[in-house]
Amino acid sequence: MKTNVKRRPFGKNGMEVSEVSLGAMNLRMLKDIDLCKKLVNDILDQGVNCIDTARAYDSEQGSVPMISSEKILGEVISARTDIDEPLLIITKGHGYTPDVFDQHLRESYNRLQITQKDGKLYIGTTEIRLCYLLHGISEERWGSIISTNVPDYAQQVKAEGRINFVGFSSHQNDGPTIQKAIETGKFDACELPYNVYSDILGEGGPVDLIKLAGERGMGVINMKAYNGNGSVAIFKQLKEVTGLGYTEMTRFCLSNPYVSTIDAGVRSLAEYLENAAASGMPLLSAEERKEMRDRASRVSPYLRTICRECMHCLEKFECPHGVNFPQMLGVHGRYQVSTSLGYATLTYKDEFKKATGNFNECVECGQCLPWCEYHLEIPTMLKEAINDLA
Ligand code: SF4
Ligand code: SF4
Repeated sequence: MKTNVKRRPFGKNGMEVSEVSLGAMNLRMLKDIDLCKKLVNDILDQGVNCIDTARAYDSEQGSVPMISSEKILGEVISARTDIDEPLLIITKGHGYTPDVFDQHLRESYNRLQITQKDGKLYIGTTEIRLCYLLHGISEERWGSIISTNVPDYAQQVKAEGRINFVGFSSHQNDGPTIQKAIETGKFDACELPYNVYSDILGEGGPVDLIKLAGERGMGVINMKAYNGNGSVAIFKQLKEVTGLGYTEMTRFCLSNPYVSTIDAGVRSLAEYLENAAASGMPLLSAEERKEMRDRASRVSPYLRTICRECMHCLEKFECPHGVNFPQMLGVHGRYQVSTSLGYATLTYKDEFKKATGNFNECVECGQCLPWCEYHLEIPTMLKEAINDLA
């Protein structure tokens, strides 16, 4: 299929992948199954051959319609007959023991409609390569992964042809665990956060783990290229100060030679194209990258304490009191940054009203706290948001 998006080697795994791929986590935010399918089809029409999803990328329980990223992908790809090259499908499960690994892999097979024939994997008539990741490894999860020998088990599953590549994803605070995982030599790929605002797992950290993984031949999937989950309003606002839009943020990541692909979490083809406009641009020099980082650092302090609207908390948690806290905190975060930068804030009260519904129902039980990837003090922040905007 013709493509405008450049390809890069997926480590030393023998496959070339679109350097800007589709991060399908945000499908659930579209809240409309037809829109989700249209978006996936539009992106496949761009010749993108790599899609990142996970068993956990479902809408909140009880949502109508219930949107499962894996199911949408399975339905779209199985209906296509025009894809003339294998697609790389990256998905993830929480299999930190062999039994759960198997159970979650089976579920992903069903949802993605994967079939096995003559040693190859397919969705419908489209051949795929399946990259299966242990989702979000941390020190605690690594203990179980190692004590139950999951890496060897995963390699066995690969040898049986049920998956093509074995990997893991992890987050900013888990550097030591990521290093241990890379050094086992038992993973073909990893998915790590890296962006112009935060390169702590790359050249800005104590160990350049992106380089370490790349040098060992692993495919490196760059998540959070936009310092959150996909295109959110805050960075459009900050572009006025930093000059860093989505194309520039993508270019920064693509200029790291160890990055194989960026999983751009988008909600429209226009967002994808804005990101992918960086594909094929000349790579930035070390000086240019430093200059970009300096510009980003002008606003970084404002970003540390606000909600990034990443919706990772909603992967596993729903407020038992029905409080729509990520949306409320998202609007308030933008309001706070606008206030700090001296921008107009008039529209935020209306936006907050739309996002809230029942903002007074937070009973400060704290159950949401462990689920925020950025360790935000959610109940306290909700009080401040209500105080400023309600
Ligand atoms: S602290 Fe508030 S928002 Fe968090 S789970 Fe409890 S009621 Fe919900
Ligand atoms: S509360 Fe935390 S995890 Fe949830 S959307 Fe905001 S930053 Fe992301």
